[in-house]
Amino acid sequence: MQTLDAGGALPFYKAAACVYKAQDLSALKALFQGDARLCGLLNNALCVGVGYHPAFLNGDENLETLESFLNAFKSAFIGEIGLDYVCETPHETQRAVFLNQLELALQNGLGAVLHIVKAHAETIDILKGIFGVKGGMKLCIHASRFSKDIAREYLKLNAFLSVGLRELKGEKGLELAKYIPLENILFESDSSLGEAGALAVCEEFAKLSGIGAEICAEAANRNFSKMFLNES
Ligand SMILES: [Zn+2]
Repeated sequence: MQTLDAGGALPFYKAAACVYKAQDLSALKALFQGDARLCGLLNNALCVGVGYHPAFLNGDENLETLESFLNAFKSAFIGEIGLDYVCETPHETQRAVFLNQLELALQNGLGAVLHIVKAHAETIDILKGIFGVKGGMKLCIHASRFSKDIAREYLKLNAFLSVGLRELKGEKGLELAKYIPLENILFESDSSLGEAGALAVCEEFAKLSGIGAEICAEAANRNFSKMFLNES
C-alpha cells in the first residue's frame, strides 16, 4: 500500500508494507536479529505491518513472536489480518486468530489493516462489539469494494477505505469513488492488482469522483499520516 505526494513522486517514507505468513515472520526475525542496520534502515524508510493473514494460517501462529516483531519497528501496524471466506482456512480458526490480533492491536495502541473477503457483515459486528466495550482503533480496510451500505458501517467506525485500480472498476467502483469521503480515502498498489502504482489509482479515483487529483493526493497523504505515522 502506498500513497503519493501531490507532485506525483512516490516518497518512500510514505509506503506501508505487510508481511503475513508464520514462516515469513520466523525468517524475518532471524534476519533482523542479525542485522540491526537493516532494521534501522527500514525504520526510517517505511511503515512495517506484520500480522497473520487469514489465507495463510497453518497452526504456527504465535502472538509473542508477532508482538516482538512489531516492537522492533518505530512505526508498525498489524496487518493484513481479517477474515477471508473464499480461502480454505476454517472459519472458526480465522475468527480466533483475527480476534487475538485485534486484541493485540488494542493493547499496543496500533492500527490494523484488514483483509476481508465475503465477511464484511461479520467483521462489522465484531468491530462494533469491540469498539463498544474497549474503544476504537485505527483501521484501514484494504481492497475496499463493497456496497454503500457496508461502506457506511465502516465509516461509522472511522475506518480508512483503501482502493486500488481493481476496486475502482465498473459500476461498483464508480459508486464507491463518489461515496467515500476524502477524509477516509487511501490508495494502494497491491502486487495482486498489477503494476500500477498509487499515482495511477489516485488519478483514476479523481476522474471517477470528479475531484481534482491533487486534492485527492493531499487527502490521501494526510490520511496516511494519521493511519500509519500517528499524526493527528
Ligand atoms: Zn489482502
